[in-house]
Amino acid sequence: MGSELFYRGHDDEDETQQQKSDVVYTPKPNKPLLLITRPIRYVLREQRLIFVFIGIAIATLIFALLPSSSSPSPYTKFENDNALIANTYFPSSESNRILSQKSNVYHENRGGMGLISAGGKIPLGLKRKGLRIVVTGGAGFVGSHLVDRLINRGDSVIVVDNFFTGRKENVMHHLGNPRFELIRHDVVEPLLLEVDQIYHLACPASPVHYKFNPVKTIKTNVVGTLNMLGLAKRIGARFLLTSTSEVYGDPLQHPQVETYWGNVNPIGVRSCYDEGKRTAETLTMDYHRGAGVEVRIARIFNTYGPRMGIDDGRVVSNFVAQALRKEPMTVYGDGKQTRSFQYVSDLVEGLMRLMEGEHVGPFNLGNPGEFTMMELAQVVQETIDPNAKIEYRPNTEDDPHKRKPDISKAKELLGWEPAVSLRKGLPLMVSDFRQRIFGDHKDSADLSMATTTS
Ligand code: NAD
Ligand code: UDP
Ligand code: UDP
Repeated sequence: MGSELFYRGHDDEDETQQQKSDVVYTPKPNKPLLLITRPIRYVLREQRLIFVFIGIAIATLIFALLPSSSSPSPYTKFENDNALIANTYFPSSESNRILSQKSNVYHENRGGMGLISAGGKIPLGLKRKGLRIVVTGGAGFVGSHLVDRLINRGDSVIVVDNFFTGRKENVMHHLGNPRFELIRHDVVEPLLLEVDQIYHLACPASPVHYKFNPVKTIKTNVVGTLNMLGLAKRIGARFLLTSTSEVYGDPLQHPQVETYWGNVNPIGVRSCYDEGKRTAETLTMDYHRGAGVEVRIARIFNTYGPRMGIDDGRVVSNFVAQALRKEPMTVYGDGKQTRSFQYVSDLVEGLMRLMEGEHVGPFNLGNPGEFTMMELAQVVQETIDPNAKIEYRPNTEDDPHKRKPDISKAKELLGWEPAVSLRKGLPLMVSDFRQRIFGDHKDSADLSMATTTS
């Protein structure tokens, strides 16, 4: 018994105790068990560090080999977030279809670049740490949907917006959430914040709005982007620029690939936006090359969905509002010009994959389905009112004749592609517009009608 106590003691103590025990020591008969345990205890005592290292190695091996837990893996997180969006905007059967399509994309992506690099494997029992994220222009149409996704994912979001085209209503549902902040600020002024990521969306997107004060538009794109890049540089944040398909101008290459340099009129009425975004891309790449800022560039093609400004002048919002109000749909020019229309949840998914992935871009983010404006008017008729009239108006200056993204790069490197077709997405936007224009709640009936007839 005594000898057991001696072994547990510290070395110095052991020595003196050992001396004492030597004095009174009377040999005991050899016990076979003691013969085995003694060396083990010796090794335990003398090689403690080695055992600690072995323990760590075993634990690491277990974490690395076991599949991620039911607690948030990047995949389940994204799928849950999609479920939230789907529950808000999609009728149930549609939501299931879209989700199953989306999860195919995610699972296919498991071996590839996309989300694995984004969040890494989250070990059993560990929660993903929320990021601090600034979304400039977060009270606008696209920004507010992005904010919803980031908040649902568990991040803390600061929206910076001057409310030129954005609305507090778009983010009102987050007020009171401790992980949400709303700052009225114009990005042409310097901004001091501490965050991990910056999604830079601040800029009016509708031609009607960006032509309203062209000098302000170019200042927002150039000075505003410079300030947000300066912020990213100072705090070491990752920066994502929402550029546009307008950088291709009136394209001479169709569909548009990211390597195409475009055909832009530098002195036209659209150039405050087109050239502004081109300069914003230039600044972004120069901060990347020159100052080592981690950047991402998305070239967004026409996007539509709930929360678009009802009277913001873009074609989808115009046609939908006009058809609902029983006004003729205004087709500019001969209506043969083409655009590709992307549903907003697809865009948000693409932006988040781009931000979390390893690639700078630029990446085209758009739906490759191509429609003439006359075809779009027909889809709106099918969805809202078969008797909706069409009225021709003179076209605007420098209106691009065609537009269709080549999304091979985003498919390959981000594992991303749109899941919502125009005929599926339009009814979801119509429901939101109907509610905002008439304040009624006939949505579900109309939605199911629209989904079955399309
Ligand atoms: P939007 O007009 O609805 O949102 C823009 C937001 O930026 C608004 O909330 C507005 O108030 C804010 N803003 C504008 N100028 C600002 C300034 N100087 N300081 C602070 N805030 C400012 O437009 P959207 O459709 O949500 O577009 C978002 C981004 O995506 C824009 O950068 C746009 O160029 C780009 N984009 C959109 C589309 C599309 O089809 N929606 C297509 C291509 C590119
Ligand atoms: N800037 C900002 N917030 C910051 C850091 C910089 O708004 O936290 C602005 C700054 O006012 C400047 C711009 O970003 O106008 C570019 O900053 P940078 O440091 O790159 O350039 P410099 O200030 O040296 O010209
Ligand atoms: N357009 C239209 N009727 C409208 C608004 C726009 O026919 O009421 C046309 C416009 O001429 C352009 C296309 O729709 O060819 C897309 O315009 P939008 O303003 O939505 O976006 P753009 O791609 O031009 O930035």
